[in-house]
Amino acid sequence: MRRTVRHLFTMLSVLSLLLCVATWVLWVRSYWRIDGISNERNDDRGGKEIAVESVRGQVLIMSLGRDDLWPGIRGWESIHRPLSDDENYDWTTAPWHGFGMTHWGHRTNRFVMVAIPHWGLAAAFGLVPAARCFSTARARSRRRRQRCESCGYDLRASPERCPECGVVNPSRASATPSA
Ligand SMILES: [Zn+2]
Repeated sequence: MRRTVRHLFTMLSVLSLLLCVATWVLWVRSYWRIDGISNERNDDRGGKEIAVESVRGQVLIMSLGRDDLWPGIRGWESIHRPLSDDENYDWTTAPWHGFGMTHWGHRTNRFVMVAIPHWGLAAAFGLVPAARCFSTARARSRRRRQRCESCGYDLRASPERCPECGVVNPSRASATPSA
């Protein structure tokens, strides 16, 4: 069970690290290119578009809905285009370090946009790998001081198995024949 949890933690931290790196790449690119994905569709309430775009240090999540049907629906589409100087998203930087939200319209004809800065996403994705590094470093330091890797209990009197939490000490259990 502990092993499964540890493997999940490792996989999660690798995945998070990849997402963190991808966010950094998008972040740098976002100052001269817009990358994103959009979806257009009609439903019984009219035309709808949702889009996520990486623009000038921010990830913008947009939703546009109208009460009339849209002709020439495009479905899913990826967005890759150069960022022009006149594309101004300054309003989204106003509230707090790149986090922001705006909306206009009413129930059947409205636009909602939420902005999340790349740094915020990169920090969120970096948390799990950072925790992983911390726990690895802590286990190493405990091992060096002859303490239980799991709970920190002093193992000098019982090097094979922790009397506090029951974890078998891997380095000693294999080296010392069991009594
Ligand atoms: Zn222990």
